[in-house]
Amino acid sequence: MKNKKDERIKRESIVSSGNSGDGGDKEEPPSIPTLIKEKIYPWQKLPSYENIPPDLFFDWRWQLKNMIRTPHQLFEVLPYLTPEERENIKMVSKRYPLLISPYYLSLINPEDPEDPIKKQAIPLIDELLDYKGIKDPLEEEGDEAVPGLIHRYPDRVLLITTNFCTTYCRHCTRKRLLGKGGTVRIYQEFERVLNYLKEHPEINEVILSGGDPLTLPLPKLKFILDGLKTIPSIHVVRIGSRVPVTLPMRLFDEELLNLLSQYDFLWLNTHFNHPNEITEYSKKAIFNLCKCGIPVNNQTVLLKGINDDVETMRELFKGLLKIKVRPYYLFHCDPTKGVSHFRTSVYKGIEIIEGLRGHISGLAIPTYVVDAPHGGGKVPVMPNYIISMSEDKIVLRNYEGMIFSYTWNDKKYKEFKGQKNEGIYSLLNGDLDYLIPEKTKRMERRKKYEIKDS
Ligand SMILES: *Cc1c(COP(=O)(O)O)cnc(C)c1O
Ligand code: SF4
Repeated sequence: MKNKKDERIKRESIVSSGNSGDGGDKEEPPSIPTLIKEKIYPWQKLPSYENIPPDLFFDWRWQLKNMIRTPHQLFEVLPYLTPEERENIKMVSKRYPLLISPYYLSLINPEDPEDPIKKQAIPLIDELLDYKGIKDPLEEEGDEAVPGLIHRYPDRVLLITTNFCTTYCRHCTRKRLLGKGGTVRIYQEFERVLNYLKEHPEINEVILSGGDPLTLPLPKLKFILDGLKTIPSIHVVRIGSRVPVTLPMRLFDEELLNLLSQYDFLWLNTHFNHPNEITEYSKKAIFNLCKCGIPVNNQTVLLKGINDDVETMRELFKGLLKIKVRPYYLFHCDPTKGVSHFRTSVYKGIEIIEGLRGHISGLAIPTYVVDAPHGGGKVPVMPNYIISMSEDKIVLRNYEGMIFSYTWNDKKYKEFKGQKNEGIYSLLNGDLDYLIPEKTKRMERRKKYEIKDS
């Protein structure tokens, strides 16, 4: 009898959600369980996860328990890997550990040999054939003030809280640490960090990095955040985490969200590299962070064969805006040992920024930076927009190729005697105000009203 009532509730919910169609009462609606069964979730296409229902797949504990940690586990989930790929994976994972969440793995399209998720998560033999790479290219160890704490810039420090992540990226700049040492031992050594911060009140920001701080057990994370809260000179705590990309369901957990919403100094920087990583689940994770009052920014790494073209980057950055993530940095890939096969040239990065600035929303455009050797820090690199300058004028160009002079005082340029000049110099000496490319879309639109000569 109970069943009948259930049946009625289900029917009503179908009707009220507007799916009754026009058949009226005669046509029986399908029951909810049938509807669900007919839907195949993306992960269920993988033989190993065929029978995993959504409530399990979206349980972060299930994900952690079922992490792929060994080549053997990986071969079970991805039976289509070739014998050569398998051999290589076995060899590489002995040197650089393997770790992939079932969720992130399920984003791989097995039909795409160039799949961008596969390239980021599955080892290639190239990692062992890198003879030029440097273990610690940013010389972080040289700037280590107390264990795990890197003090490079005047007002902010970076703390390596763990060497565990929710997927090990093959391109990680801290490949030397993954699954190994180099972190602060929170309960034993965090006091030294706090003392250092007290002695340096000029430090206003702590970046919690790793590894991924959101993999820490909640009591440890709370211990760190509570500790930082006691230091009045710390205004901002920035968490660096790839959890929204590789294990978004971790951020569906009320207990974690409750903890995070207790601190008003939190920001989070995440790491999306490809539009395929933007899913309804990563979107939900980001929205949950927003609800906790945490602004989310993104750091993308420019990776050869993954995102090194304008089209992919436009789609990625526009997609991030849609889920309320602000693109912050585009990093040139560091010369880390084992990562060199992902590196492209700096001209690629400049070309990409040229293809973005002016073409898409400024909110969607990150700063392209090169992390300088010897701990020199991040240096922005851009296409040139300054064409020339003189004492009271600068000649600039915009994304369309329009070239104009810009002055910061009202002084009319001295009367120019002699021959009329041409070219860029004519902008500096005041003969001309602008040079303009013909036949741009904007110029077509402007035909109705001519450019006013000043
Ligand atoms: C990147 C980085 C920072 C933060 O730099 P921002 O430009 O503020 O994002 C701080 N410390 C270290 C060691 C870094 O590598
Ligand atoms: S999530 Fe970050 S720290 Fe972890 S492997 Fe990826 S890039 Fe490295």
